[in-house]
Amino acid sequence: MINENLNQVLKERFEKTIATATNEEVYLALLELTKGIIKNRGTNKGNKKLYYISAEFLIGKLLSNNLINLGIYDEVREVLLENGKELSQIEEIELEPSLGNGGLGRLAACFLDSIATLGLNGDGVGLNYHYGLFKQVFEDNKQKAEKNPWITKESWLNKSDIKFDVLFGGFKVTSSLYDIDVTGYNQSCNKLRLFDIDSIDETIVEDGINFNKEDIKKNLTLFLYPDDSDEAGHLLRIYQQYFMVSNAAQLILSEAEENGYDLHKLNEHVVIQINDTHPSMVIPELIRLLGEKGIEIDEAIGIVTKTCAYTNHTILAEALEKWPIAYLEKVVPQLMPIIRELDNKVKSKYDDEKVFIIDNENRVHMAHMDIHYGFSVNGVAALHTEILKDEELNPFYKIYPEKFNNKTNGITFRRWLIHCNNELSNYISELIGDEYKKDATKLEDLLKYIDNKEVYAKLESIKRNNKIELKNYLKETQNIDIDENSIFDIQIKRLHEYKRQQMNVLYIINKYLEIKSGKLPTTPITMIFGAKAAPAYIIAQDIIHTILCLQEIINNDPEVNKYLRVVMVENYNVTKASKLIPACDVSEQISLASKEASGTGNMKFMLNGALTLGTEDGANVEIHQLVGDDNIYIFGKPSETIIEHYKKADYVSRKYYEKEGIKELVDFIVSDKMLQVGDEVNLTRLYNELINKDWFMTLIDIEDYIKTKDRMFKDFEDRDSWMKKVLTNISKAGFFSSDRTIAQYNEEIWKLK
Ligand SMILES: *Cc1c(COP(=O)(O)O)cnc(C)c1O
Repeated sequence: MINENLNQVLKERFEKTIATATNEEVYLALLELTKGIIKNRGTNKGNKKLYYISAEFLIGKLLSNNLINLGIYDEVREVLLENGKELSQIEEIELEPSLGNGGLGRLAACFLDSIATLGLNGDGVGLNYHYGLFKQVFEDNKQKAEKNPWITKESWLNKSDIKFDVLFGGFKVTSSLYDIDVTGYNQSCNKLRLFDIDSIDETIVEDGINFNKEDIKKNLTLFLYPDDSDEAGHLLRIYQQYFMVSNAAQLILSEAEENGYDLHKLNEHVVIQINDTHPSMVIPELIRLLGEKGIEIDEAIGIVTKTCAYTNHTILAEALEKWPIAYLEKVVPQLMPIIRELDNKVKSKYDDEKVFIIDNENRVHMAHMDIHYGFSVNGVAALHTEILKDEELNPFYKIYPEKFNNKTNGITFRRWLIHCNNELSNYISELIGDEYKKDATKLEDLLKYIDNKEVYAKLESIKRNNKIELKNYLKETQNIDIDENSIFDIQIKRLHEYKRQQMNVLYIINKYLEIKSGKLPTTPITMIFGAKAAPAYIIAQDIIHTILCLQEIINNDPEVNKYLRVVMVENYNVTKASKLIPACDVSEQISLASKEASGTGNMKFMLNGALTLGTEDGANVEIHQLVGDDNIYIFGKPSETIIEHYKKADYVSRKYYEKEGIKELVDFIVSDKMLQVGDEVNLTRLYNELINKDWFMTLIDIEDYIKTKDRMFKDFEDRDSWMKKVLTNISKAGFFSSDRTIAQYNEEIWKLK
């Protein structure tokens, strides 16, 4: 079937066959064919619909994911192979949209997959950024940001004829809506709805990612998270947010009216999930629009409060957005009377300033609005939700204990196992059947092989194949050589001090100095990083620079590079993650305890047979509980201790720096060796930061980290014992399927069917 259909499309369009067509032509034909199949699938329906509004959807390439969900992946791959084509090569043609920054956006993408897979009636709503985040390139051992175009003439985007007017202070724009079909695994489809405007002018971007931030009609949807280190940047983010939620609110009301729903009972037919605070203005906007439909403000507030639910993703202050009233008055003057009314109601009921929406510096706290005027507040892992209740959001928890709930994050196994590690997935099917693809808890059936040496051997050989594939990929893309017989130790995630890439750096320096002094590791080690840093985040840039300098020094030192290599993968994204994760032995999850809300990278690694080296933080806590002490490597001070240090403000990094064994590691950052390949400004700044501030307490855990990691590398030598741990991790990963997460959202928050 596929064979004939594909040949037919290729003949009609290019006068070619699968065998004679180029990879690009085959890609375009598969795109057309797949879109046709999707159309015939139909969409999920129901009396109530979820709108998952998010500034980010880090969806990754879609071809293989869709083929898997449509049940034709294996067939397509075979047909291509018979004609001398590799599906993995065809995949290369598709450009990856960078419509997300990291975990939060990837979570939204996994959720869309699971919502469709569970047959739930729910769409994602966001923005169609033309250049997404940015593309990272390395130059002179530094990150350079470039635009990242992904929209091609033919793509997964379908332009709809839906348009809305969106009014800003002083001018109006008209939106266009693009839809991307979201396929469920053996299920009907949903949509990801991305709003844009036709007047965007891509040519205003010059020199990297710079552009005139004031020309809103030309720049509104150019970039995700445009630089907001000046006022124009701040304003642009508010323009984007309002554009997103006004379109979302208008779409919601128009669909409700189309279905003949009574707007007074909107909450019986609609539920809105507010993903972090970026979409928070949907609350006043929906109240405003209901007012235009003749509903009194108090009733409208009641309806909206029963319709909206908020997910908190972090306790870092930077993410709890607070917009100055003056900015909101300029961009969205029509919302300010409503926001003031919402705030007045709060102030008339509560005395505690900590729960006010508008603070005494005339700033609007978006999260506070979400909590007062939504019916649900959820954290994203058990520990995170407890910290929200006990610490960060405690004043709110005291008022609304019933609103708070936990939804531990998850990942879609279709992408993060079946697609990225097809050999492992097929082997699991051989051992325990296919059921785990729909019910991930079935992975526990693998435990019956827990002492089976044949299974160990096969798992080893799969890991080895994945390592060789990664080796070849890195050679091809970055001309870097690595050794497949070494331990692959991987830390891939956004660059942020709380994630503590800098601690890993100190470990590398330690290992380097050991090797130089003749203390050699038994098994060679390859340390792999991947991370983008926000262009305005200076220390993050310095950490990237330090890693790249170490890469240059270590990989070119013949005394060292037999035992240790460092690789920083360029432009870390979903595609790269899919190649790195299946090849990993050691998964670095080393955030400062209490700071990583959940993490989802940790789950992907576990599922693919890597062991976690981590702090008792985020979902690591739940991984630990599931696999037990023997199957994870936990180190570092617990969250209670860390929270105490912040409360008392009594952490002094210099005290740790001066300890024996630590000082020489930190000092190496500004050693002659480093200064020969690096930039003194960057290296000195990081050095000073570590000894004088170290806000995320790198030095408090460094000794324990080095000790635990060395023990882990030692344990790697005992292959049977290691493989038993690997198998335990895979068996217990089922809990982290986003199908489980979404089932819980639906049972406890959305109540869709
Ligand atoms: C999963 C994923 C993340 C999140 O990683 P964490 O380790 O949880 O921060 C970020 N970026 C990409 C591309 C991912 O696939």
